[in-house]
Amino acid sequence: MTTCFLCGKEIEGKKSREHILGDSFLQLLDIKIERFKFNSSSEDKEYSRLKVPSHPKCNNGFGSRFESDIINLISSFDEKREFLNSLHLNDVRGEVDRLRGALTKWLAKLYLGFVYWEVGLPRHPNVEFQTQLSELLTDPILDLLQRVLNKETPLFVPSSLFYFKIPEYDDVELRFDFATGLPLGLFFIKFQGHLLVVALGDGNLVSEYFTNEQYLYSQYIIDEHKDNDPLAYLHPVSHIWAVRELLPVQPKLKFFNGYISNESRVKHRNRPDINGKAVNSRATEIFTEHASRFGAEFRNTAEYRDTQP
Ligand SMILES: [Zn+2]
Repeated sequence: MTTCFLCGKEIEGKKSREHILGDSFLQLLDIKIERFKFNSSSEDKEYSRLKVPSHPKCNNGFGSRFESDIINLISSFDEKREFLNSLHLNDVRGEVDRLRGALTKWLAKLYLGFVYWEVGLPRHPNVEFQTQLSELLTDPILDLLQRVLNKETPLFVPSSLFYFKIPEYDDVELRFDFATGLPLGLFFIKFQGHLLVVALGDGNLVSEYFTNEQYLYSQYIIDEHKDNDPLAYLHPVSHIWAVRELLPVQPKLKFFNGYISNESRVKHRNRPDINGKAVNSRATEIFTEHASRFGAEFRNTAEYRDTQP
């Protein structure tokens, strides 16, 4: 890989390597030496060794500035709960908009980092998939993300973003989790009692189909099962991802100079129905895939099985 994941341009001359998950973020979570399980396969790496190529200028410039802004922001999450709970709504309050922009930008950076990392992986367990991914590098959405990432402003690429408050556990395996749903711009990250789920560049369609009612119900399930199901947070993740996969309308974003027009619903004034049954069964599959990354002790208890659909 000779392309900078932050700006998408060729790297000539000196290359630097940027942490996908920032160094200060890893320090904050105290997981620098924990190991990242990739596809439950042999590619087992310490989080602090997950790095991708970038220009030294991009890395030391907005890359690191961006990192410290994010640390400040997530440290204030508990006071911002009211705003975080509205991220998925058409909330016109400035604070919600600002938060949505800043967090979407952070998640976009992580998403880009993992796409580049996976494309550059020397021994990928699924070469065919890796080839598909490398084609994604020229995707207009990725290009757009890279063009706006280095701007000082928050990121306003029409995306659906959800925040959930989740219980915190001492168990190392349960302290931190994330995954990338490639190539659909899906990403989630769980840390310090917070869960963020994003569908990047989906034209806000997922938040139309994963309704506020479902959002509130998911939060209720997470709270309700805090003592017997540490993986309850994977339910909304799986459901949101399944909705994105099975959207009856495809996102349509048009790019002009520094401006994005969301035309996803132009030809669909009345919202077409989503296949709810298909969404539920796909969500169950996604849930099982994610849950399988955890040890059987979490999945094989009777309490845990009772919570499964
Ligand atoms: Zn660059």
